Amino acid sequence: MQINKPRELLRLRIALIIGAVLVLAFMAADLMLLPSSMYELYIFDRLLLQFPIILVVVVLSFWRRFIQHRAYIFAGLLIALSYSNYWLIWVCWEEHSFIFPYEGTILYAFFCVFALGIAFKLALAANVINILGFLGLMWVAPVYGDRVPISMAFVSGSLFICVYARYRLDRSVRMLKETNDRLLKLSKFDPLSDLLNRRALREQSEKLLALSKRHKVSMAVMMLDLDDFKKYNDCFGHQQGDEAIKIQARIMKQVFKRETDILGRYGGEEFIVVLSDIQKEQVEKHCDALLNKWKEAALEHAQDAKHPLMSCSIGVVFAKSAENMSIDCLIDEADKALYEAKEKGKAQFVLNQAQYLE
Ligand code: GH3
Ligand code: MG
Ligand code: MG
Repeated sequence: MQINKPRELLRLRIALIIGAVLVLAFMAADLMLLPSSMYELYIFDRLLLQFPIILVVVVLSFWRRFIQHRAYIFAGLLIALSYSNYWLIWVCWEEHSFIFPYEGTILYAFFCVFALGIAFKLALAANVINILGFLGLMWVAPVYGDRVPISMAFVSGSLFICVYARYRLDRSVRMLKETNDRLLKLSKFDPLSDLLNRRALREQSEKLLALSKRHKVSMAVMMLDLDDFKKYNDCFGHQQGDEAIKIQARIMKQVFKRETDILGRYGGEEFIVVLSDIQKEQVEKHCDALLNKWKEAALEHAQDAKHPLMSCSIGVVFAKSAENMSIDCLIDEADKALYEAKEKGKAQFVLNQAQYLE
């Protein structure tokens, strides 16, 4: 998914700072619970282990490739925080026979997986490592006595719920994105030809025109129209007519391959191509290629059509500079050139230079 990097970075840094503040807040609460003999140990764990671990991640967030690797970094953070907690539980028990609570482990998991955002698979891996760590801790130091089984069940169950919730969330986001992409495609593309529809064609052409003006480069607008299409429809039926429209779209995609080339269906069997930063000779070559591809397609036309094989006529307007131009006037000029091509006998192109507009 496309993300806004500076905003995402800011959001993550704020989340990390909230995390660090929470650690400090819990410190204050914990210190009320602990005997003073354990302050040193506790403060070492929180201030010299956990707090610096979070700070390292904050510093890492200034790394150029942080966004790309953030999920691994956060999974590492989750494991490091959890294990530093296990260490504290273990030492409190070993050295002071003090039963330090395990709930922090669950808080860390939910914080890292949801507030920082670790995707399902990594969240699963990190939480499995943490569950195993907790089970190992209970094995070597059964801190909670009779409550060891319920504590193990509680930690494992909570971390499992955390991972499952992440799975459901990722799945919903993915489905939403797929629906969004489908809707976006439907709103931009013509379903029959899979070329841009008239509205999207207009929007993108306006943008390309503005860019061409800024960079002072040439532009060309082509209008293509199938020859004697009414007769073709009458002779072979509308379904077959639709197939001819698809062939026209396929041919256009084969000829125009640059990322900036704009291809769209303007109406019924009329198509438009908008090209920028192109030489007049290249435009002529493209027109020849379009006509040749129709010849190669060798699609039989209606008996009373002008040509025995299906063809198209092309009207082109070429502008050395796009200054003082509008998309409307360029399309108008291309339409006039198309009319000329039809008048001259169809299955050909007419290219006019838009000198008077410059
Ligand atoms: P010309 O060579 O002068 O262009 O003659 P023409 O018969 O092609 O004339 P025109 O361009 O006006 O014909 C448009 C025809 O295209 C009329 C309409 O039936 C047909 N048409 C428009 N949209 C579609 C479509 O989506 N599918 C099919 N099968 N036919 C369509
Ligand atoms: Mg037409
Ligand atoms: Mg036509």
